[in-house]
Amino acid sequence: MTTKFLLPETELPTHWYNVVADLPTPPPPPLGPDGKPVGPDALAAIFPGPLIEQEVSAERWIPIPEPVREIYRLWRPTPLYRAHRLERALGTPAHIYYKNESVSPAGSHKPNTSIPQAYYNKISGIHRLTTETGAGQWGCSLALAGQLLGVEVRVYMVKISYGQKPYRRSLMQTWGAEVFASPTNLTNAGRSILAKTPDTDGSLGIAISEAVEEAAGRQDTNYALGSVLNHVMLHQTVIGEEAKKQMAMAGEYPDMVFGCCGGGSNFAGIAFPFFADKAAGKQVRLVAVEPTSCPTLTKGVYAYDFGDATGLTPLLKMHTLGHDFMPPGIHAGGLRYHGASPLVSQLVHEGLVEAVAIPQLETFEAGVQFARTEGIVPAPESTHAIAATIRAARECAKTGERKVLLVNLSGHGHFDMSSYDRYFAGELQNFEYPGEAIQESLKHLPKVG
Ligand SMILES: *Cc1c(COP(=O)(O)O)cnc(C)c1O
Repeated sequence: MTTKFLLPETELPTHWYNVVADLPTPPPPPLGPDGKPVGPDALAAIFPGPLIEQEVSAERWIPIPEPVREIYRLWRPTPLYRAHRLERALGTPAHIYYKNESVSPAGSHKPNTSIPQAYYNKISGIHRLTTETGAGQWGCSLALAGQLLGVEVRVYMVKISYGQKPYRRSLMQTWGAEVFASPTNLTNAGRSILAKTPDTDGSLGIAISEAVEEAAGRQDTNYALGSVLNHVMLHQTVIGEEAKKQMAMAGEYPDMVFGCCGGGSNFAGIAFPFFADKAAGKQVRLVAVEPTSCPTLTKGVYAYDFGDATGLTPLLKMHTLGHDFMPPGIHAGGLRYHGASPLVSQLVHEGLVEAVAIPQLETFEAGVQFARTEGIVPAPESTHAIAATIRAARECAKTGERKVLLVNLSGHGHFDMSSYDRYFAGELQNFEYPGEAIQESLKHLPKVG
């Protein structure tokens, strides 16, 4: 009875898989403020050439540069586990497998993209990056990448998280990044918000505006984004490529693949390589799991919208709740984004990927059950995917089906124990985002065409 399926370093993927090559229709292009497709030059102020090329590429396979693979080897290939003990606790005939992305130094899947992003900036002559971070996972991952590749990193951290997650901040500083509580008085965006609301908690949208403004205004500085964009989805496909080989080692193929979905990157990472098989006729269900409090895929519309709160970014065609949607303060900080990856959104729109929303208490219940059976304490984001997997496994217990379920454990929850504390104290609630509030923020979608 094997528990861990381990690949040797020689099986580390050599190429990223680009799902665009297998889409039934080409992805709608990003649009500028004039409603016309933005050319690569518009992006060149904040992104390096190789990443812009990847953003628009339709090549199926894109080679992973050797210096990136060398750093990936610090923690990749990551293990695939059969969740024997969880299966037993659920009394299910289903076979549950999980891919453990929590073994990276930052504790999540995010370094899969922070490393190549820092690398491509560096070889393009950029030695300084800005970014934003909410809960701190992306800031940590970019700080790590900057340290390993010799690129300076400045992080605008949402003020409320800066106070609430002090150890995420010290982790970023340990890896050599500069961290500021956003809004700051270092940027016009920050100063104007502070002038209006000096006591603000900050928001991801404001922090993005600050990081983008600084990068756009400095020749030596670019901006890095941890999710949503096509090149980020691309870099994460190492997860699913490895998982396919590991499922083959186990002698199985998944009936269903689950990932939680904030911006969409860890879901894309595990699911897209299986989509290649689906596009070739294989039966496999791909399920993106989101919170009921931020139901982008299940209750948002598929439309052009801004990527940030203030309207600085190009318009992306995606599932969105409206760029001025204010998510309630649920604990899965990484899932509180108004939009989702355009590629994931398109696949949901075309009925090729399923989406499900799960209430907060069920996700923590699943996280605790996972910790008490498999041992690993999952990140509050990852518990969403685990909860959906448990639902499917329970269904199998009823029907007697022996389905094979694969879930991505996107990260561990070691820096999120205050959220578990609040769950144990009975202080957390379910929150269904009201339909009227969504309708209201959808009224502010930009007019296109
Ligand atoms: C950031 C994060 C997420 C959400 O981002 P995606 O781009 O949707 O993957 C999920 N899980 C963890 C552990 C994260 O750090």
